[in-house]
Amino acid sequence: MTDIKTLESWDRDNFFHPSTHLANFARGDMPNRVISGGEGVFIEDKSGNRLLDAFAGLYCVNVGYGRQKVIDAIAQQASELAYYHAYVGHGTEASITLSKMILDRAPDHMSKVYYGLSGSDANETNIKVVWYYNNVLGRPQKKKIISRWRGYHGSGLMSGSLTGLHLFHQQFDLPLSQVIHTEAPYYYLREDSSLSEEQFSAYCADELEKLIQREGADTIAAFIGEPALGTGGLVPPPKGYWEAIQKVLNKHDILLIADEVVTGFGRLGSMFGSEHYGLKPDIITIAKGLTSAYAPLSGSIISDKVWQVLEQGTDTFGVFGHGWTYSAHPIGAAAGVANLELVDQLNLVGNAAETGAYFKKAMQDAIGDHPHVGEVRGEGLLCAVEFVADKAGRKRYEPMGAVGGQLAAALLKRGVIARAMPQGDILGFAPPLCISREECDQVVSALKDAVSEVLG
Ligand code: PLP
Repeated sequence: MTDIKTLESWDRDNFFHPSTHLANFARGDMPNRVISGGEGVFIEDKSGNRLLDAFAGLYCVNVGYGRQKVIDAIAQQASELAYYHAYVGHGTEASITLSKMILDRAPDHMSKVYYGLSGSDANETNIKVVWYYNNVLGRPQKKKIISRWRGYHGSGLMSGSLTGLHLFHQQFDLPLSQVIHTEAPYYYLREDSSLSEEQFSAYCADELEKLIQREGADTIAAFIGEPALGTGGLVPPPKGYWEAIQKVLNKHDILLIADEVVTGFGRLGSMFGSEHYGLKPDIITIAKGLTSAYAPLSGSIISDKVWQVLEQGTDTFGVFGHGWTYSAHPIGAAAGVANLELVDQLNLVGNAAETGAYFKKAMQDAIGDHPHVGEVRGEGLLCAVEFVADKAGRKRYEPMGAVGGQLAAALLKRGVIARAMPQGDILGFAPPLCISREECDQVVSALKDAVSEVLG
């Protein structure tokens, strides 16, 4: 086995890490972290630390680490048939079974699943499907996509454009011209503090309506949004938001893409966020919780309304010219089948609802009164604490981000991983859906100590 010092030096010399300050890493101004094992909600690193992973990797290891059922399913599939493609009607027992399992769980009006490997590539697929749809319907000008500031939809050229965070645009020549952004459904630090939640939702819908009027409804193809904002701050929608937004979209014949990469398969305490908040999407993006990240797999769930047009398109234009070598990869599909079975067997959706409510209340009770804790929020096991410089005046820290980073570091010292979210001083929590109340207590106790250490 290679020793840790050698690994660390190879790491700095050879590995281009995603979402990393490259110069700091190369100089050694930030630590390497070599992760070696995991069980339940805990991971271990090569330096012998055991950490409670309260972010489930990147909110993806929903069933927890080290689940033998999923491991065995992967091993068995690898030994039977590690790979075959899914082009021109090919499938495996795993990919065919998984498609049925996904549709059994998805809203009734959904019809088919297209597979990719990541949330980003699934959103690339979605936009191609939407463009194809409007071309087949003879409206080639109806192509622009509306996304929200603070939305996160991936890091590709199109998916990175859909993402509404400047860090993912600047110096990359994004967003692409077909993408426009509208108001974020972020109630807490809204500009007009006099607005109620319902009034703020009406304001967001009104801003959307104005944008559509400015651009021309006949140029707008689709609206994409996460049912609850993820990377943009872990923010459940304000009351009435989706109802108001969907009214505007329906009026202008604009498709709705629900990006459920984080919320799909139980995170909010419902199987899908669409069901949780009453969305009727035309396309749903899934990834992360589909396999609990035991193998890379994503999907685009297509509604019957869109599917009918895709079929019509191939009758006119021939084969649907969009495919990945690894679409419906058998190992990912086998992991998906075992993972979804486990989600049911362990009642993880129910646990996300119950333990999530317990966790949020425990955080609120422990630190809610602290003068720099602005808001404790969340739904199911997607929770956040937002820290502010001035609670009464609802003022952020300037510059933002430093306090969130210090708090995440203070938690890590206490053996807990939380994520400092990029758009504010926000600590994000999205633990495996199997987390117990005792493990939540451990997180809350570490959080309380971390807050007193950093903020007094
Ligand atoms: N959509 C959402 C809502 C996400 O949270 C993410 C990743 O965090 C993505 C898409 C992109 O997924 P991936 O990183 O697998 O490309």
